[in-house]
Amino acid sequence: MSTLWPFPDDALKASRFPAVLPLLVGLHRALCAKAVPSTLLLVGEPLAGREAVAVELAAMLICPQGTLHCTCHSCERVRGGVHPDLHLLRVGVGHREIRMEDVEEVLANFRQVPFEGQRRVYVLANAHTPPLNVFAASALLKTLEEPVKHAVWILLACNPLRVLPTIVSRAVQLRVPSTPGVLAQALGPRAQALAQVVPGSLGALVEEGAEAEDFLQLAQELLPEALAGNYLAVLRLAALAKERPWRASLLAAVSLAAAAQANPELAERAVEVAEGWLVAQGRAEQLHLGFDATAVATLAPVFEVR
Ligand SMILES: [Zn+2]
Repeated sequence: MSTLWPFPDDALKASRFPAVLPLLVGLHRALCAKAVPSTLLLVGEPLAGREAVAVELAAMLICPQGTLHCTCHSCERVRGGVHPDLHLLRVGVGHREIRMEDVEEVLANFRQVPFEGQRRVYVLANAHTPPLNVFAASALLKTLEEPVKHAVWILLACNPLRVLPTIVSRAVQLRVPSTPGVLAQALGPRAQALAQVVPGSLGALVEEGAEAEDFLQLAQELLPEALAGNYLAVLRLAALAKERPWRASLLAAVSLAAAAQANPELAERAVEVAEGWLVAQGRAEQLHLGFDATAVATLAPVFEVR
């Protein structure tokens, strides 16, 4: 059975993140006092401890003993992402956002008692809007407004300002301290370099997960050809991003990184291209068109495609 967790294995190991241990101890104390809220919003940098807190908390909430750092069969299955009482809400394959249908699917058994554990635990991999669209958010909100005793929501976000206020107001917010240095280790060498050159690209790199290195390599190979006016390279880049909307921001980041290394004339074009990917992404969303169509139209003047 494959794991539910969409995060790299390393990001789930609490022992790698000493800074989060006091928080876990506090959560365990709250659990013993039957004071764990029905909705928790874990705020922290992606892959720097918050996923590990979510996993350990889920294990603790589901575990028959409810102990911290437990190694029972139930806890190990939660860590492995294969426990029947563990549920995950994320962007579905081939989609650009979390839709109402996704929420409904994940919540199918919400009011039923757990299969075998103490509770059902629901993890929302990204509570930001987007990718959580407003319809999905309102479907989710219904369950947050009428909590059931045996279900707990764990929402993940790095910026509470990007979470709808209606959701924030229903959740108890906990800041997860980052453990310095681990974030860089979780990314491959190309991703690390990109995250350093273009600070805002981290979220998209995390979404990309294990495929980040391959995608970046291809994007870095195709971009110079595209900048030289190669129409096919533009099309191929756009096709790479078509089904995965966050790739538009990665293409923008790769373009910006290229601008930093190029001669002034080419640098200017690379910056225009970076902007073009983001404009194309916005248009694709507004007009409900494929990203490849809007990207080619938006970038044609820049690339002098005829
Ligand atoms: Zn256990």
